Amino acid sequence: MSFEFKRMLMVKEQLQGRDVKDKRVLDAFLNVPRELFVLEEYKDRAYDDSPLPIGYGQTISQPYMVAKMTELLDLNEDDILLEIGTGSGYQAAIASRLCKHVYTVEIIPELVDFAKSNLKKAGIKNVTVILGDGSVGLKDYAPYDKIIITAATESVPEELFEQLKVGGYLVVPEGDRFTQWLKRYIKLEEGKIVSEDYSACVFVPLRGKKGFK
Ligand code: SAM
Repeated sequence: MSFEFKRMLMVKEQLQGRDVKDKRVLDAFLNVPRELFVLEEYKDRAYDDSPLPIGYGQTISQPYMVAKMTELLDLNEDDILLEIGTGSGYQAAIASRLCKHVYTVEIIPELVDFAKSNLKKAGIKNVTVILGDGSVGLKDYAPYDKIIITAATESVPEELFEQLKVGGYLVVPEGDRFTQWLKRYIKLEEGKIVSEDYSACVFVPLRGKKGFK
């Protein structure tokens, strides 16, 4: 079975077959070759309905989870997105098709190189991968229209709300080390933030200054 066919099946069964409805999100998945974002030894499993190891104890997230989080971001073509936790670069690649620019921060140097090389192979130019501790956000290009944290956090570090525009969304798996709840925060005005709860999920923990101790 070709990668292209497996990609189509993944979109139909794992995304549409569940509750992913946003056509722009589905199109993005059809246009980003996931096999370019996994380790060589996992290429034949690139379209499995599960996360996969990318080394250093980290994972590329399950396609459905990437889709659900992307849908919750409700990206517009002029949006600037901040991602914390680049990993393989796949989530950034998907988001890059739906917004103007993605800044993505990764704490493990080897994964910064992995993601940069994967994004280059995929021909994606509107993603900037930055080595650093994203638990305190990324002041340099703030404020952001949307923020996504792709590692588990006990609570969202204050710096990230500060770096989000009024009217912006922040999507995050929040909970303890073992299970989290997928949440979307909306910044209504300075100091006023509301949240919505979605589904249970499991992510690797956020590290760094404001990460898990
Ligand atoms: N979004 C990724 C993808 O599409 O492959 C998957 C992210 S993986 C589940 C979580 C990532 O967050 C790991 O690569 C991990 O090294 C990174 N991470 C953890 N703590 C971090 C921090 N404080 N700053 C930046 N990245 C961090």
